[in-house]
Order: sequence, then C-alpha cells, then structure tokens
Amino acid sequence: MSRKPLLAGNWKMFKTSAQAREFFADLIKLTQFKADREVAFGVPFPTLEASVQAAHGTPVIIAAQDVYWENEGAFTGEVSAPMIAATGAGAVIIGHSERRQMFGDTGEWVNKKVKATLAAKLMPIVCVGESLAEREANKTFDVLDTQLTEGLAGFTPADMTTVVIAYEPVWAIGTGKTATPEMAEEVHAHIRKWLAGRFDQAVADNTRILYGGSVKPDNVAKLMSQADIDGALVGGASLEAASFAKIIDFDA
Ligand code: PEP
Repeated sequence: MSRKPLLAGNWKMFKTSAQAREFFADLIKLTQFKADREVAFGVPFPTLEASVQAAHGTPVIIAAQDVYWENEGAFTGEVSAPMIAATGAGAVIIGHSERRQMFGDTGEWVNKKVKATLAAKLMPIVCVGESLAEREANKTFDVLDTQLTEGLAGFTPADMTTVVIAYEPVWAIGTGKTATPEMAEEVHAHIRKWLAGRFDQAVADNTRILYGGSVKPDNVAKLMSQADIDGALVGGASLEAASFAKIIDFDA
C-alpha cells in the first residue's frame, strides 16, 4: 500500500495571473516542499499557464477546477482536457459541490469529465459529499454511494490508478465547520470499503481519499493522522501563502 499524501489548494474564482505569480513566489520562500507529500493547486482557467510557469522548478501540480468532456467544438465558454494539458497543468478538480449545486453538474457529467481527464493523462480529483439535510436524515453513505457509482461508472481498476477522491461534506465548505477527524475517518473508511466492493482491494488500498471542508493550519495534522485520510482539499486557507505553507508542512 502506498498512498502519498496530497495537499491540494482550490482557489475557486480568486486570483489573476499576476496574483498567482506573487503567491508562488511567496510560497517558494516559505516551504521546502517535503518529499513525502504532494502539493496541487486548482486555479482559474486564465491563470493556468502563469501558475505553471510560476511553480516551475517546484513539485507543485497545477490543476484546473473543471473541464468539458469534448476535445473541441462549438461549446462556447467551455475548456477541454487537451487544452488544460497543453498549459502544462497536471490535474483537474471535478464535481466540486459548488459546480453540482450552482452549475448543475450531474453524476453523468462528472463521469464524462473524469473520462476526458484520464484520456488527456491528467489526474482527476473527484469530489463527493453530502449536504447538511442529507447528513441529518442519515443519508450520508447512500448519497456518497450514488455519487461514486455515477461518477466512476464504466471504469476498470486500471483506470483508477491516477484517480483521487475528495470527500467534502457540503456543510463544512467555507463555513468554518469541520467534520471532526473521527467523523471524516468514518466516511473515508466507508468510501474505501465501497472501492473494494466496486473494484478490488488493491484499488481500495491505493486510491487517495482527501478530506475537504474548512481545513486550516491548526486542524490539518489531526485530520491527516487518521488512517484513511490521505490528504486535504483546501479552499479558503489556500489563498494565503503563509497559511497554505503551514498546511503543506504539517507534522506527520
Ligand atoms: C473547497 O473549496 O473545496 C473547500 C473545502 O473550501 P474551504 O476549505 O474554504 O472550506
């Protein structure tokens, strides 16, 4: 079993190219990028190329925050996986709850986006998570099973080699409310069991499952100490180099 921790930022709709350059210049001064963990950043489309250039010479993987599943065509406003790959980016965040809730991303779309991302040899970071109402109605596992079944439909164990899953309870995103490490671990263990049932034990053992939802410098180490938490997807605290440096440098 080898699951290298992955700490991923998600800038959402923040930062211009100039601000991205400034951010990476600051981050490089603040961290040594420890070799036992990976770092990624989901940046806005217009910032991809500048971010790739600014992070050059570091191990940081630049990611897009969405993708369209066709390679090219009359799809005004959309961006394809080969276009993202051509910027030098290495990953795509797919099915973030903000996309599912505000922009209508469905399980079927998530599936097509993951397929296109894999075809372009990019690493998909597939987000799943329940709303507060679903958690309170005891539907968390059912919701996650459905999102995973739909999002990963048709894939084989070989397809899963580079797929990363991010568990992001919707009620914990941008709210300052974090799932306790024990609550998060319970869900991560469930997702790993689901992977074993849907694929096989090797996929379950090797797939990285990130936690996302108000991860901060002061709670990351405790979350990361849980057996099935393999990293974090970080929104708010990834916007400042100082706070993100503390997150990626957490004491293992
Ligand atoms: C996110 O954007 O995926 C996220 C988890 O945001 P925050 O860390 O701000 O809750």
